[in-house]
Amino acid sequence: MTFRASILTLYPDMFPGSLGKSLAGRALERGDWAYETVPIRDFGEGKHANVDDTPAGGGAGMVLRADVLGQVIDAASPSQDTRPRLLMSPRGKPLTQTRVREFATGEGVVIVCGRFEGVDQRVIDARNLEEVSIGDYILSGGEVAATVLLDAIIRLLPGVMGNEMSGTHESFENDLLEHPHYTRPAVWEGHEIPEVLTSGNHKKIAEWQRKQSEALTKARRPDLIAKRRTTLDKD
Ligand code: SAH
Repeated sequence: MTFRASILTLYPDMFPGSLGKSLAGRALERGDWAYETVPIRDFGEGKHANVDDTPAGGGAGMVLRADVLGQVIDAASPSQDTRPRLLMSPRGKPLTQTRVREFATGEGVVIVCGRFEGVDQRVIDARNLEEVSIGDYILSGGEVAATVLLDAIIRLLPGVMGNEMSGTHESFENDLLEHPHYTRPAVWEGHEIPEVLTSGNHKKIAEWQRKQSEALTKARRPDLIAKRRTTLDKD
């Protein structure tokens, strides 16, 4: 099954962008995923194809119009479309690997890329848009955020990652950061690879990696350790 992404944007030229390269690019060529861009400008009002207007109540910037976006969403995703309708937004729930996995098991996603100050609230409510944030900082538009979301999803689609195992040990799977990696040369600027990794003892190696993972997570992301405890308590 091909995972289908519809991207509603004022800047269709920004796609596929980095999604046309490397792992995601090869997956696109194989047909593991497909995308269409739906240019918001094509649905603009009047001879100037207006898509935005000043905020009601005053204030800086412009707001994407509900009537224009409503039409774009309906064209890209008619009511029988079962794909989730997303709005990239700093007000959304922060994206997690768990949510990415859920998206990757579905048929696809419809993504609205915001611009300016944001989107008229009425269209968010009426079209049931799920707001998704990629982190606590402000981007100039939703396109880069949509690229981040799609990149994270695509690498999890069946057949996309060569080594199937390499998805399961990674940071955030099990709420742990990944252990450090090493490769040749054996000695670099006087620094050696930790001895255990060249010992050939797989049990010891696994144990070392798990300990490293736990120590790193404790030092850098105590929030993940706390989350893990609550999950373990629940089980
Ligand atoms: N005034 C808004 C920010 C608008 S930024 C606010 O304060 O909440 C313009 C657009 O960029 C947004 O509509 C959204 O689509 C996108 N964007 C900005 N930061 C983002 C983030 N952290 N995650 C996802 N999308 C983001």
